[in-house]
Amino acid sequence: MTADRLALDGIGMTSRRTRERLIERLKTQGITDSQVLDVMVTTPRPMFVDEALAHRAYEDVSLPIGHGQTLSRPYTVAKMTELLLAYDPKKVLEIGTGSGYQTSVLAQCVPRVYTVERIRALQVKAQQRLRMLKLRNVFFKHDDGHLGWPEKGPFDVILSAAAASEVPQALIDQLADQGCLLTPVGGDKQSLIKVTKHDNQITKTVVEPAKFVPLLAGREP
Ligand code: SAH
Repeated sequence: MTADRLALDGIGMTSRRTRERLIERLKTQGITDSQVLDVMVTTPRPMFVDEALAHRAYEDVSLPIGHGQTLSRPYTVAKMTELLLAYDPKKVLEIGTGSGYQTSVLAQCVPRVYTVERIRALQVKAQQRLRMLKLRNVFFKHDDGHLGWPEKGPFDVILSAAAASEVPQALIDQLADQGCLLTPVGGDKQSLIKVTKHDNQITKTVVEPAKFVPLLAGREP
């Protein structure tokens, strides 16, 4: 971990063993990509939640980030990132910036990340955190993620951190050939779905059961 990152970690050096325990747990849950594990051990997760919850930041649970939204549990972030990195993406679209934690993990693994969030207040906070972490390869948009970000597409990979009733067509349209889209789908019972595109042939497969907040329509200030 760089000195900069450590200084930004709300609980500093004392959390080193806690961070390493998280990585051990991710390994036992089947995460093997060393880049993902390295980035997750050095990304200061306490920065992405309220101070009152910082002591729980390395637990493998989802945590509230305000506005009725949650920071995904570390396993989910690791699993989605690992699956997407297999496609060696140069350009990534993320729907649901939220706290910016998943965004910052991605930004350390790929050249460019485009991220869309419908709640302006969350987007602004996430932008501040990424600036503090000196991650400058991220482009933010305040909009309804159902629409994707057509002007910037196509994207090598796309991930959504919010569940739609079905995979939004705009996201499929903005996926590059040979690309991969990961998104939770469903209501009370959700599945993480992987969509791939080969010569305009779309294939959908279920990865595993999922539990995400819903993909809502429109924008909020
Ligand atoms: N990966 C995020 C998880 C955030 S939770 C993190 O690491 O913190 C999912 C996010 O999706 C929430 O911030 C929610 O506001 C956002 N969201 C829900 N519907 C959306 C939509 N239609 N467009 C963009 N963002 C949306």
